[in-house]
Amino acid sequence: MSQNEVLFKRALKSIPGGVNSPVRAFRSVGGTPRFISKAKDAYIWDADGKQYIDYLGSWGPAIVGHAHPEVVQAVQRAAESGLSFGAPTEAESLLAEAIISRIPSIEKVRLVSSGTEATMSAIRLARGATGRNKIIKFEGCYHGHADSLLVKAGSGLLTFGNPTSAGVPAEFVAHTLVLDYNDLDAVKAAFAEFGPEIACIIVEPIAGNMNLIKPVEGFLAGLRALCTEYGALLIFDEVMTGFRAGPQGVQGLSGVTPDLTTLAKVIGGGMPVGAFGGRADIMDQIAPLGPVYQAGTLSGNPVSVAAGLITLEILSRPGFYEHLQTQSAKLVAGLQEKAAAAGVAFCADSVGGMFGLYFRETVPTTFAQVSDVNHDAFKVFFHGMLDNGVHLAPSAFEAGFVSAMHSDEILEKTLDAAARAFSLI
Ligand code: PLP
Repeated sequence: MSQNEVLFKRALKSIPGGVNSPVRAFRSVGGTPRFISKAKDAYIWDADGKQYIDYLGSWGPAIVGHAHPEVVQAVQRAAESGLSFGAPTEAESLLAEAIISRIPSIEKVRLVSSGTEATMSAIRLARGATGRNKIIKFEGCYHGHADSLLVKAGSGLLTFGNPTSAGVPAEFVAHTLVLDYNDLDAVKAAFAEFGPEIACIIVEPIAGNMNLIKPVEGFLAGLRALCTEYGALLIFDEVMTGFRAGPQGVQGLSGVTPDLTTLAKVIGGGMPVGAFGGRADIMDQIAPLGPVYQAGTLSGNPVSVAAGLITLEILSRPGFYEHLQTQSAKLVAGLQEKAAAAGVAFCADSVGGMFGLYFRETVPTTFAQVSDVNHDAFKVFFHGMLDNGVHLAPSAFEAGFVSAMHSDEILEKTLDAAARAFSLI
Protein backbone atom coordinates (compact mmCIF):
# COMPACT_ATOMS: atom_id res chain seq x y z
CA MET A 1 0.00 0.00 0.00
CA SER A 2 1.36 3.44 -0.87
CA GLN A 3 1.93 6.00 1.84
CA ASN A 4 -0.86 8.11 0.30
CA GLU A 5 -3.24 5.19 0.80
CA VAL A 6 -2.04 4.64 4.35
CA LEU A 7 -2.55 8.30 5.22
CA PHE A 8 -5.94 8.45 3.50
CA LYS A 9 -7.16 5.38 5.40
CA ARG A 10 -6.00 6.96 8.62
CA ALA A 11 -7.58 10.34 7.82
CA LEU A 12 -10.91 8.66 7.02
CA LYS A 13 -11.16 7.57 10.64
CA SER A 14 -10.92 11.04 12.14
CA ILE A 15 -11.90 13.50 9.40
CA PRO A 16 -15.20 13.25 7.46
CA GLY A 17 -14.29 11.83 4.05
CA GLY A 18 -10.65 12.13 5.06
CA VAL A 19 -10.47 15.72 3.86
CA ASN A 20 -11.11 19.23 5.13
CA SER A 21 -12.70 20.44 1.89
CA PRO A 22 -14.80 18.05 -0.24
CA VAL A 23 -13.27 18.26 -3.73
CA ARG A 24 -9.89 17.15 -2.32
CA ALA A 25 -11.39 13.68 -1.82
CA PHE A 26 -11.10 12.72 -5.53
CA ARG A 27 -14.78 11.66 -5.57
CA SER A 28 -15.35 12.80 -9.13
CA VAL A 29 -12.20 11.19 -10.55
CA GLY A 30 -11.83 8.16 -8.27
CA GLY A 31 -8.61 6.94 -6.65
CA THR A 32 -6.63 8.09 -3.66
CA PRO A 33 -5.93 11.76 -2.97
CA ARG A 34 -2.25 12.63 -2.89
CA PHE A 35 -1.19 13.68 0.59
CA ILE A 36 1.22 16.54 0.13
CA SER A 37 4.41 16.66 2.15
CA LYS A 38 6.00 19.76 0.65
CA ALA A 39 5.84 22.25 -2.19
CA LYS A 40 8.43 24.45 -3.85
CA ASP A 41 8.17 26.71 -6.93
CA ALA A 42 6.00 24.87 -9.50
CA TYR A 43 6.36 21.49 -7.80
CA ILE A 44 4.69 19.53 -5.03
CA TRP A 45 5.70 16.22 -3.48
CA ASP A 46 3.38 13.58 -2.09
CA ALA A 47 3.77 11.33 0.93
CA ASP A 48 5.53 8.71 -1.22
CA GLY A 49 8.14 11.27 -2.23
CA LYS A 50 6.80 11.49 -5.80
CA GLN A 51 7.25 14.90 -7.43
CA TYR A 52 4.50 16.56 -9.47
CA ILE A 53 4.26 19.72 -11.54
CA ASP A 54 1.44 21.52 -9.78
CA TYR A 55 -1.40 23.25 -11.62
CA LEU A 56 -3.66 23.42 -8.57
CA GLY A 57 -1.61 26.11 -6.84
CA SER A 58 -3.65 25.67 -3.63
CA TRP A 59 -6.72 26.51 -5.79
CA GLY A 60 -5.26 29.86 -6.79
CA PRO A 61 -3.13 31.50 -4.13
CA ALA A 62 0.28 30.15 -5.22
CA ILE A 63 0.74 32.64 -8.07
CA VAL A 64 4.40 33.42 -7.34
CA GLY A 65 5.14 29.71 -6.90
CA HIS A 66 5.16 27.65 -3.74
CA ALA A 67 7.34 28.67 -0.78
CA HIS A 68 8.68 31.74 -2.54
CA PRO A 69 11.72 32.78 -0.46
CA GLU A 70 10.54 36.36 0.00
CA VAL A 71 7.07 35.25 1.10
CA VAL A 72 8.49 32.66 3.49
CA GLN A 73 10.85 35.24 4.98
CA ALA A 74 8.02 37.78 5.43
CA VAL A 75 5.91 35.14 7.17
CA GLN A 76 8.78 34.10 9.45
CA ARG A 77 9.52 37.69 10.40
CA ALA A 78 5.87 38.43 11.14
CA ALA A 79 5.50 35.23 13.18
CA GLU A 80 8.48 36.18 15.33
CA SER A 81 6.66 39.38 16.30
CA GLY A 82 3.50 37.59 17.38
CA LEU A 83 0.84 35.50 15.68
CA SER A 84 -2.30 37.49 16.40
CA PHE A 85 -3.19 40.54 18.48
CA GLY A 86 -6.89 41.23 18.02
CA ALA A 87 -5.94 44.89 17.75
CA PRO A 88 -5.06 46.99 14.70
CA THR A 89 -1.63 47.00 13.05
CA GLU A 90 0.09 49.29 10.57
CA ALA A 91 0.55 46.38 8.17
CA GLU A 92 -3.25 46.11 7.76
CA SER A 93 -3.33 49.66 6.43
CA LEU A 94 -0.43 48.85 4.13
CA LEU A 95 -2.31 45.87 2.67
CA ALA A 96 -5.53 47.90 2.38
CA GLU A 97 -3.59 50.67 0.61
CA ALA A 98 -1.87 48.15 -1.67
CA ILE A 99 -5.28 46.78 -2.74
CA ILE A 100 -6.85 50.22 -3.12
CA SER A 101 -3.96 51.58 -5.18
CA ARG A 102 -4.18 48.63 -7.57
CA ILE A 103 -7.95 48.26 -8.01
CA PRO A 104 -9.58 51.60 -8.83
CA SER A 105 -13.14 50.60 -7.85
CA ILE A 106 -12.02 49.86 -4.28
CA GLU A 107 -11.97 52.99 -2.14
CA LYS A 108 -12.14 51.21 1.18
CA VAL A 109 -11.58 47.57 2.04
CA ARG A 110 -12.09 45.30 5.03
CA LEU A 111 -10.00 42.18 5.61
CA VAL A 112 -11.55 38.86 6.63
CA SER A 113 -10.16 35.31 6.78
CA SER A 114 -11.65 33.53 3.74
CA GLY A 115 -13.42 34.05 0.46
CA THR A 116 -16.64 32.73 1.97
CA GLU A 117 -16.55 35.39 4.64
CA ALA A 118 -15.86 38.04 2.03
CA THR A 119 -18.85 37.18 -0.17
CA MET A 120 -21.17 36.59 2.78
CA SER A 121 -20.25 39.98 4.21
CA ALA A 122 -20.53 41.74 0.85
CA ILE A 123 -24.04 40.36 0.37
CA ARG A 124 -25.09 41.50 3.83
CA LEU A 125 -23.63 44.90 3.13
CA ALA A 126 -25.44 45.14 -0.21
CA ARG A 127 -28.71 44.26 1.50
CA GLY A 128 -28.08 46.66 4.35
CA ALA A 129 -27.04 49.52 2.09
CA THR A 130 -29.99 49.16 -0.28
CA GLY A 131 -32.62 48.09 2.24
CA ARG A 132 -33.58 45.29 -0.19
CA ASN A 133 -33.53 41.51 0.25
CA LYS A 134 -33.34 39.78 -3.10
CA ILE A 135 -30.07 38.86 -4.76
CA ILE A 136 -29.16 37.47 -8.17
CA LYS A 137 -26.50 34.83 -8.67
CA PHE A 138 -25.62 32.64 -11.64
CA GLU A 139 -25.76 28.86 -11.94
CA GLY A 140 -22.25 27.40 -11.83
CA CYS A 141 -20.69 30.38 -10.07
CA TYR A 142 -19.40 29.47 -6.63
CA HIS A 143 -19.17 32.14 -3.99
CA GLY A 144 -18.26 30.08 -0.94
CA HIS A 145 -20.52 28.13 1.35
CA ALA A 146 -22.74 30.76 3.01
CA ASP A 147 -26.38 29.63 3.24
CA SER A 148 -27.95 32.10 0.81
CA LEU A 149 -25.37 31.24 -1.88
CA LEU A 150 -25.64 27.44 -1.77
CA VAL A 151 -28.48 27.43 -4.22
CA LYS A 152 -29.29 26.15 -7.67
CA ALA A 153 -31.87 27.28 -10.18
CA GLY A 154 -35.51 26.58 -9.42
CA SER A 155 -37.83 24.93 -11.88
CA GLY A 156 -38.95 28.04 -13.75
CA LEU A 157 -36.95 30.82 -15.34
CA LEU A 158 -37.80 33.40 -12.71
CA THR A 159 -38.44 31.24 -9.69
CA PHE A 160 -36.25 31.48 -6.66
CA GLY A 161 -33.68 28.76 -6.15
CA ASN A 162 -33.42 25.49 -4.25
CA PRO A 163 -30.74 24.79 -1.63
CA THR A 164 -27.83 22.66 -2.88
CA SER A 165 -26.95 21.50 0.63
CA ALA A 166 -28.85 19.79 3.37
CA GLY A 167 -29.06 22.07 6.36
CA VAL A 168 -30.00 25.14 4.35
CA PRO A 169 -33.68 25.91 4.96
CA ALA A 170 -35.60 26.74 1.77
CA GLU A 171 -36.55 30.04 3.44
CA PHE A 172 -32.87 31.03 3.58
CA VAL A 173 -32.54 30.90 -0.20
CA ALA A 174 -36.00 32.27 -0.83
CA HIS A 175 -34.46 35.61 -1.75
CA THR A 176 -31.84 34.20 -4.12
CA LEU A 177 -32.67 34.24 -7.82
CA VAL A 178 -30.43 31.90 -9.83
CA LEU A 179 -30.00 32.72 -13.51
CA ASP A 180 -27.92 31.41 -16.41
CA TYR A 181 -24.42 32.85 -16.77
CA ASN A 182 -24.04 34.92 -19.94
CA ASP A 183 -27.83 35.25 -20.35
CA LEU A 184 -28.41 38.98 -20.11
CA ASP A 185 -32.02 38.67 -21.24
CA ALA A 186 -32.77 36.57 -18.16
CA VAL A 187 -31.26 39.29 -15.96
CA LYS A 188 -33.34 41.94 -17.73
CA ALA A 189 -36.47 39.87 -17.15
CA ALA A 190 -35.57 39.46 -13.47
CA PHE A 191 -35.20 43.20 -13.01
CA ALA A 192 -38.41 43.85 -14.93
CA GLU A 193 -40.23 41.55 -12.49
CA PHE A 194 -38.48 42.27 -9.18
CA GLY A 195 -36.37 45.41 -9.84
CA PRO A 196 -37.16 47.49 -6.73
CA GLU A 197 -36.56 44.46 -4.47
CA ILE A 198 -33.14 43.45 -5.84
CA ALA A 199 -30.22 44.39 -3.60
CA CYS A 200 -27.40 43.11 -5.76
CA ILE A 201 -26.03 40.85 -8.44
CA ILE A 202 -23.06 38.74 -7.39
CA VAL A 203 -21.04 37.32 -10.26
CA GLU A 204 -17.69 35.72 -10.97
CA PRO A 205 -16.74 38.13 -13.76
CA ILE A 206 -14.78 35.27 -15.31
CA ALA A 207 -16.20 32.06 -13.88
CA GLY A 208 -13.58 29.68 -12.50
CA ASN A 209 -15.80 27.28 -10.61
CA MET A 210 -17.48 25.66 -13.60
CA ASN A 211 -14.17 25.12 -15.32
CA LEU A 212 -13.22 28.46 -16.93
CA ILE A 213 -16.06 30.39 -18.58
CA LYS A 214 -15.53 33.88 -19.90
CA PRO A 215 -18.30 36.46 -20.07
CA VAL A 216 -19.65 37.00 -23.59
CA GLU A 217 -19.32 40.46 -25.11
CA GLY A 218 -21.64 42.90 -23.33
CA PHE A 219 -22.62 40.60 -20.44
CA LEU A 220 -20.73 42.38 -17.66
CA ALA A 221 -21.48 45.84 -19.07
CA GLY A 222 -25.14 44.82 -19.27
CA LEU A 223 -25.15 43.76 -15.61
CA ARG A 224 -23.58 47.11 -14.72
CA ALA A 225 -26.21 49.05 -16.67
CA LEU A 226 -29.12 47.12 -15.13
CA CYS A 227 -27.79 47.55 -11.59
CA THR A 228 -27.35 51.28 -12.15
CA GLU A 229 -30.82 51.62 -13.68
CA TYR A 230 -32.55 49.80 -10.83
CA GLY A 231 -30.42 51.04 -7.92
CA ALA A 232 -28.97 47.59 -7.18
CA LEU A 233 -25.30 46.96 -6.40
CA LEU A 234 -22.96 44.99 -8.65
CA ILE A 235 -20.60 42.68 -6.75
CA PHE A 236 -17.68 41.17 -8.63
CA ASP A 237 -16.54 38.06 -6.81
CA GLU A 238 -12.86 38.22 -7.70
CA VAL A 239 -11.79 35.76 -5.00
CA MET A 240 -10.27 33.64 -7.76
CA THR A 241 -9.66 36.18 -10.54
CA GLY A 242 -8.38 39.02 -8.34
CA PHE A 243 -4.70 39.64 -9.17
CA ARG A 244 -4.72 36.39 -11.16
CA ALA A 245 -6.66 37.15 -14.36
CA GLY A 246 -4.69 40.39 -14.55
CA PRO A 247 -3.19 43.11 -12.34
CA GLN A 248 -6.61 44.65 -11.68
CA GLY A 249 -8.60 41.46 -11.90
CA VAL A 250 -11.38 41.13 -14.45
CA GLN A 251 -12.54 44.67 -13.78
CA GLY A 252 -9.26 45.88 -15.26
CA LEU A 253 -9.63 43.61 -18.29
CA SER A 254 -13.29 44.38 -18.96
CA GLY A 255 -13.41 48.06 -18.02
CA VAL A 256 -16.62 47.35 -16.07
CA THR A 257 -16.67 48.86 -12.58
CA PRO A 258 -18.45 47.00 -9.80
CA ASP A 259 -19.74 48.68 -6.63
CA LEU A 260 -18.18 46.00 -4.42
CA THR A 261 -15.44 43.45 -4.98
CA THR A 262 -14.55 40.35 -3.02
CA LEU A 263 -10.99 39.05 -2.89
CA ALA A 264 -9.08 36.20 -1.19
CA LYS A 265 -6.57 33.56 -2.40
CA VAL A 266 -3.74 35.63 -4.03
CA ILE A 267 -3.98 38.51 -1.54
CA GLY A 268 -3.05 36.10 1.25
CA GLY A 269 -0.06 34.60 -0.56
CA GLY A 270 -1.10 31.14 0.71
CA MET A 271 -2.20 32.22 4.18
CA PRO A 272 -5.90 32.50 5.14
CA VAL A 273 -7.21 35.90 4.02
CA GLY A 274 -10.24 37.39 2.34
CA ALA A 275 -11.35 40.95 1.71
CA PHE A 276 -14.33 42.91 0.50
CA GLY A 277 -14.16 46.49 -0.64
CA GLY A 278 -15.62 49.09 -2.93
CA ARG A 279 -17.30 52.47 -2.87
CA ALA A 280 -16.49 54.33 0.33
CA ASP A 281 -20.10 55.41 0.88
CA ILE A 282 -21.18 51.77 0.85
CA MET A 283 -18.24 50.47 2.89
CA ASP A 284 -18.97 53.09 5.56
CA GLN A 285 -22.25 51.29 6.25
CA ILE A 286 -20.26 48.59 8.09
CA ALA A 287 -19.88 48.54 11.87
CA PRO A 288 -18.53 50.47 13.73
CA LEU A 289 -19.47 53.34 11.36
CA GLY A 290 -22.77 51.95 10.13
CA PRO A 291 -25.55 49.50 10.94
CA VAL A 292 -24.26 46.45 8.99
CA TYR A 293 -22.50 44.12 11.42
CA GLN A 294 -19.32 42.30 10.44
CA ALA A 295 -16.38 41.18 12.58
CA GLY A 296 -13.59 38.60 12.97
CA THR A 297 -11.16 37.46 15.70
CA LEU A 298 -8.38 36.75 13.20
CA SER A 299 -9.32 39.38 10.59
CA GLY A 300 -6.19 41.19 9.41
CA ASN A 301 -4.00 38.50 10.95
CA PRO A 302 -0.42 39.80 10.94
CA VAL A 303 1.15 36.69 9.42
CA SER A 304 -1.44 36.53 6.60
CA VAL A 305 -1.12 40.24 5.96
CA ALA A 306 2.66 39.98 5.71
CA ALA A 307 2.33 37.15 3.16
CA GLY A 308 -0.23 39.15 1.18
CA LEU A 309 1.80 42.35 1.14
CA ILE A 310 4.96 40.78 -0.22
CA THR A 311 2.96 38.76 -2.74
CA LEU A 312 1.31 41.91 -4.14
CA GLU A 313 4.72 43.54 -4.32
CA ILE A 314 6.17 40.64 -6.31
CA LEU A 315 3.19 40.82 -8.68
CA SER A 316 3.93 44.50 -9.34
CA ARG A 317 7.39 43.80 -10.71
CA PRO A 318 7.86 44.57 -14.40
CA GLY A 319 6.74 41.85 -16.75
CA PHE A 320 5.12 39.63 -14.10
CA TYR A 321 1.71 39.36 -15.78
CA GLU A 322 3.12 39.28 -19.31
CA HIS A 323 5.19 36.24 -18.35
CA LEU A 324 2.27 34.59 -16.52
CA GLN A 325 -0.11 35.14 -19.42
CA THR A 326 2.48 33.88 -21.92
CA GLN A 327 3.10 30.69 -19.99
CA SER A 328 -0.64 29.98 -19.64
CA ALA A 329 -1.16 30.60 -23.36
CA LYS A 330 1.75 28.31 -24.28
CA LEU A 331 0.40 25.57 -22.04
CA VAL A 332 -3.05 25.77 -23.54
CA ALA A 333 -1.77 25.85 -27.12
CA GLY A 334 0.54 22.92 -26.45
CA LEU A 335 -2.23 20.84 -24.86
CA GLN A 336 -4.49 21.48 -27.83
CA GLU A 337 -1.74 20.30 -30.19
CA LYS A 338 -1.16 17.11 -28.21
CA ALA A 339 -4.89 16.38 -28.06
CA ALA A 340 -5.27 16.94 -31.79
CA ALA A 341 -2.33 14.62 -32.45
CA ALA A 342 -4.04 11.95 -30.34
CA GLY A 343 -7.40 12.58 -32.03
CA VAL A 344 -9.12 13.58 -28.77
CA ALA A 345 -12.04 16.04 -28.80
CA PHE A 346 -10.55 18.74 -26.62
CA CYS A 347 -10.05 22.47 -26.41
CA ALA A 348 -8.66 24.87 -23.84
CA ASP A 349 -8.63 28.54 -22.93
CA SER A 350 -6.71 30.84 -20.60
CA VAL A 351 -6.60 34.30 -19.08
CA GLY A 352 -3.71 35.64 -17.00
CA GLY A 353 -2.64 32.76 -14.77
CA MET A 354 -5.85 30.69 -15.13
CA PHE A 355 -6.83 28.09 -17.69
CA GLY A 356 -9.71 25.82 -18.59
CA LEU A 357 -9.53 22.35 -20.17
CA TYR A 358 -12.64 21.11 -21.96
CA PHE A 359 -13.18 17.64 -23.32
CA ARG A 360 -15.44 18.89 -26.11
CA GLU A 361 -14.91 20.52 -29.52
CA THR A 362 -15.54 24.17 -28.66
CA VAL A 363 -14.89 26.47 -25.73
CA PRO A 364 -18.11 26.61 -23.67
CA THR A 365 -19.84 29.86 -22.75
CA THR A 366 -22.74 28.45 -20.72
CA PHE A 367 -23.26 26.17 -17.74
CA ALA A 368 -25.19 23.75 -19.97
CA GLN A 369 -22.30 23.53 -22.43
CA VAL A 370 -19.67 23.01 -19.77
CA SER A 371 -21.82 20.33 -18.16
CA ASP A 372 -21.74 18.51 -21.48
CA VAL A 373 -17.99 17.71 -21.48
CA ASN A 374 -16.75 14.12 -21.70
CA HIS A 375 -16.20 13.26 -18.01
CA ASP A 376 -14.84 9.82 -18.72
CA ALA A 377 -12.15 11.29 -20.95
CA PHE A 378 -11.30 13.83 -18.26
CA LYS A 379 -10.92 11.08 -15.65
CA VAL A 380 -8.55 9.09 -17.86
CA PHE A 381 -6.58 12.25 -18.66
CA PHE A 382 -6.45 13.32 -15.00
CA HIS A 383 -5.02 9.99 -13.84
CA GLY A 384 -2.72 9.79 -16.85
CA MET A 385 -1.30 13.18 -15.93
CA LEU A 386 -1.01 12.25 -12.25
CA ASP A 387 0.84 9.02 -13.09
CA ASN A 388 3.16 11.06 -15.30
CA GLY A 389 3.88 13.62 -12.58
CA VAL A 390 1.37 16.41 -13.27
CA HIS A 391 -1.10 17.50 -10.59
CA LEU A 392 -4.38 18.99 -11.89
CA ALA A 393 -7.57 19.89 -10.04
CA PRO A 394 -9.44 16.59 -9.50
CA SER A 395 -12.63 17.64 -11.33
CA ALA A 396 -13.67 18.56 -14.85
CA PHE A 397 -15.44 21.60 -13.38
CA GLU A 398 -12.42 23.42 -12.02
CA ALA A 399 -10.07 25.95 -13.53
CA GLY A 400 -6.31 25.33 -13.47
CA PHE A 401 -3.62 27.68 -12.23
CA VAL A 402 -0.20 28.59 -13.58
CA SER A 403 2.44 30.31 -11.46
CA ALA A 404 5.37 32.51 -12.39
CA MET A 405 7.60 29.49 -11.73
CA HIS A 406 6.12 27.43 -14.57
CA SER A 407 9.12 27.78 -16.86
CA ASP A 408 9.34 26.69 -20.50
CA GLU A 409 11.13 23.56 -19.39
CA ILE A 410 8.33 22.71 -16.97
CA LEU A 411 5.74 23.34 -19.68
CA GLU A 412 7.64 20.99 -22.00
CA LYS A 413 7.58 18.26 -19.35
CA THR A 414 3.87 18.88 -18.87
CA LEU A 415 3.21 18.52 -22.58
CA ASP A 416 5.20 15.27 -22.75
CA ALA A 417 3.03 13.94 -19.93
CA ALA A 418 -0.08 15.20 -21.72
CA ALA A 419 0.86 13.38 -24.93
CA ARG A 420 1.00 10.15 -22.93
CA ALA A 421 -2.24 10.93 -21.06
CA PHE A 422 -4.18 11.82 -24.22
CA SER A 423 -3.03 8.59 -25.85
CA LEU A 424 -4.88 6.64 -23.13
CA ILE A 425 -8.27 8.13 -24.11
N1 PLP B 1 -15.64 32.89 -4.40
C1 PLP B 1 -14.96 32.29 -5.40
C2 PLP B 1 -15.04 32.84 -6.78
C3 PLP B 1 -14.17 31.17 -5.13
O1 PLP B 1 -13.51 30.57 -6.13
C4 PLP B 1 -14.12 30.67 -3.81
C5 PLP B 1 -13.33 29.47 -3.49
O2 PLP B 1 -12.83 28.77 -4.32
C6 PLP B 1 -14.84 31.33 -2.82
C7 PLP B 1 -15.58 32.44 -3.14
C8 PLP B 1 -14.78 30.86 -1.40
O3 PLP B 1 -13.52 31.13 -0.89
P1 PLP B 1 -12.96 30.30 0.38
O4 PLP B 1 -12.77 28.89 -0.10
O5 PLP B 1 -11.69 31.00 0.72
O6 PLP B 1 -13.99 30.42 1.45
